[in-house]
Amino acid sequence: MTGQEIADILSEHLDEHCIHPDQPMSEYTSFRTGGNALCLVEVNNVEELRRVLTCVRKKFLPYVILGNGTNTLVEDEGYNGVIVKLEGDFKKIDVTGYEVTCGGGASFAAAGRQAADMWLTGMEFACGIPGTVGGAIRQNAGAFGGQVSDIIKRVKALTTAGEEIVLRPHELQFGYRHSIFCLKKYVVLEAVFELKKGDKNEINNKIETYSKERRDKQPLDLPNAGSIFKNPKDGSAAGKLIEDAGLAGEHIGGAMVSRKHCNFIVNAGTATATDIIDLMDKVRNDVYKTFAVRLEPEITVLGQRKRY
Ligand SMILES: Cc1cc2nc3c(=O)[nH]c(=O)nc-3n(C[C@H](O)[C@H](O)[C@H](O)COP(=O)(O)OP(=O)(O)OC[C@H]3O[C@@H](n4cnc5c(N)ncnc54)[C@H](O)[C@@H]3O)c2cc1C
Repeated sequence: MTGQEIADILSEHLDEHCIHPDQPMSEYTSFRTGGNALCLVEVNNVEELRRVLTCVRKKFLPYVILGNGTNTLVEDEGYNGVIVKLEGDFKKIDVTGYEVTCGGGASFAAAGRQAADMWLTGMEFACGIPGTVGGAIRQNAGAFGGQVSDIIKRVKALTTAGEEIVLRPHELQFGYRHSIFCLKKYVVLEAVFELKKGDKNEINNKIETYSKERRDKQPLDLPNAGSIFKNPKDGSAAGKLIEDAGLAGEHIGGAMVSRKHCNFIVNAGTATATDIIDLMDKVRNDVYKTFAVRLEPEITVLGQRKRY
């Protein structure tokens, strides 16, 4: 099926200006590379989302929910299916009392900043994480000793049967960069975080310290997707293993292991998705040969080849 054929089918369920056939995924992912998606749709509320998902499932089309694409790489051959973006109502953030309620498509960093403005502490770590709340829940995103699972109160999700359910912390199966959303194709519709009252200056100082640390230690001037590999279970740091294997500055085509932070692969300008995946392979092989440690990718790779 072509992108336009899919768009025609979806136009029976969604306003045409929300349907975009043949979209370059380089524009929707922080690596700024990768092929086209057959079709990208923007949904503004749960009803639209349900209609789109019912339709794509009936037609047996592959689909994926994409947040800000800051942890995702799309292969050069593209994604042969429908990319769904959560817009409109899904972008809302509300801070009431000690609770921060966010739509699945809301900015996780903006939610952290709004909480800070209300003198709420516990979400400072979110301020430098560039993804959406949905992406953060799925990945149990974390930094500087904090993570989603520390502050989550409940998550509203859409099941594959189109049912809205509420998941409590013990049902979310959180682990290191892991949640139930890695196992089940549920959509994060809304999340509620529960924070504590804090001291305004302390909160702002924390945010400033974290952001300086990122500027000093991460290659924020070049397109990347954050940490490319998970830290191994034995407590070692993936970045240190990569550096000690002599891979700082290693490159394939336009993809390079950052010298500033070896667990970041950057797009130095002309990287294809294949360059990035080939470099991931090389890094994994060299680290395995040197330390007998198998690094597991932290990013999601979309496409047919499924090398990761
Ligand atoms: C410069 C930089 C710094 C970073 N620093 C950190 C860090 O400190 N800590 C950290 O943990 N991560 C970090 N990341 C990685 C990334 O920002 C996080 O993993 C983030 O949570 C991903 O969110 P996203 O919306 O961009 O997800 P995407 O990349 O869009 O999607 C990631 C996965 O989540 C799924 N997903 C997205 N939305 C939903 C939804 N609503 N329902 C169900 N599934 C969904 C997607 O299908 C995909 O499988 C960094 C990335 C960059 C570029």
